[in-house]
Amino acid sequence: MGVYRAEYIWIDGTQPTQKLRSKTKIVPRGENPPIWAFDGSSTQQATGDKSDCVLEPVTVIPDPIRGGDDKLVLCEVMLVSGQPHPSNTRRASAEMGKKYASFDPWFGIEQEYTFFKGARPLGFPDNGFPAPQGGYYCGVGADEVFGRDVVEAHLDACLKAGIKISGINAEVMPGQWEFQVGPLTAPEIGDQLWLARWLLYRVGENFGVSATLYPKPVRGDWNGAGAHHNFSTNEMRESYDACVAAAEALGTRHALHIENYGFGIEERLTGLHETCSYREFRYGVSDRGASIRIPWQVAKERKGYIEDRRPNANVDPYVSSRLIIETVCGAASAKRSATPAREAVPA
Ligand code: ADP
Ligand code: MN
Ligand code: MN
Ligand code: MN
Repeated sequence: MGVYRAEYIWIDGTQPTQKLRSKTKIVPRGENPPIWAFDGSSTQQATGDKSDCVLEPVTVIPDPIRGGDDKLVLCEVMLVSGQPHPSNTRRASAEMGKKYASFDPWFGIEQEYTFFKGARPLGFPDNGFPAPQGGYYCGVGADEVFGRDVVEAHLDACLKAGIKISGINAEVMPGQWEFQVGPLTAPEIGDQLWLARWLLYRVGENFGVSATLYPKPVRGDWNGAGAHHNFSTNEMRESYDACVAAAEALGTRHALHIENYGFGIEERLTGLHETCSYREFRYGVSDRGASIRIPWQVAKERKGYIEDRRPNANVDPYVSSRLIIETVCGAASAKRSATPAREAVPA
C-alpha cells in the first residue's frame, strides 16, 4: 500500500471543559502529515461564516489501535492568519517551558478517571449503591474491581504508542482508576497526557464503556477524581530547601491556581476524601489532606519533588504546567537575582 492513515487529534473550544476531537487523513507513504483544516463552527472554535480552523501537527506517534504504519497526529489549532487560536493553550505552555528551560522542570501527572456504563459508574448496581469505599483501592476480585480489561488494553496501547506511562492502579471508588504519565517537561507532559486521554476514550469504545474526567462523578461519600501533579526542578532534585521554597511559592498564588485547575474544583476540594478545602492552602510532609504533599522519602533524602494535589482530573495540563512553572521558577529566579553571586560581593 502506498499510503498510511493519520488520525489528527486536537482540543476543541467546548466550555467550561475542552474536549478532544479527531479525524482521519490518508497520507502518501514517506510523507509527513501536512497542515490540515476543520470546521470550527462545529467545535465552538469559529462562526459559520468564517468556519475554517487550521491543524498544525506537533507530535506524531505510532497508532496502536490501527497498528502497522498508521499514526496519531496531535495538533495545535491555529487561525487562518497563522496565529494560535484562542482555544490553543499549548503554545503558552511551550513558551513558559522554554523561558525556564534552565530549571529543567519535570511533571509526573496522576490521571484519575471514572468508567461509566450508561448513566452509572461501572460496578454500581442499577438500583442503590455498592458497598461503601474501603476495599476498592488497588483491589483484586470481580466483586471489587470493574473494568480491568479496558485498563489493560489502554496500558498496552499507551506502551505501543511510546507514551511515557509510569503506572496504573484501581482507585478508591468502584469503576475509578488512575494512570500516571511522566516525568516529562512542558509542553511534552501536556502532549502525552492528552494523547493518553484520547487513547482511553478510544479503547473504551471497543468495550462499550465510556470514561469521564468529571471531578465529582458521584455525590456523597465517594472520592472525587483528581490529577495530582508531581513537580520538580533541577534545584529541587538536589535540595530540600528548594522543595520547601516551591511549596511556599505555590501558596502565594493559590487562588489563581485553583481557578485554573479544572471546572467543578469546589465540588471536589471539600476538605474530605483526602483533599484540602479549596479555600485553604497548606503543605506538609506525607499529608494527604494538604494542598501540597512533600513525600516522606523526599523529606528523608532532603531532595526530590513535591506533589500538588489540587488539580482536578479534568485539568488542562498545558494550563497547569504553564502556571506551575511560572509560579515556582519565577520565584526561584527572583531569589537567584536577589542573592548576589559570591564573586560580585565587594571584598
Ligand atoms: P502517589 O503516591 O501520590 O499515588 P504515584 O506513584 O501515583 O504517587 O505517582 C507519582 C508520580 O511522580 C509518577 O508519575 C512519577 O513519574 C512522578 N515523579 C517521580 N519523581 C519525580 C520528580 N523528581 N519530578 C516530577 N515527578 C516525579
Ligand atoms: Mn497515585
Ligand atoms: Mn490517586
Ligand atoms: Mn498522588
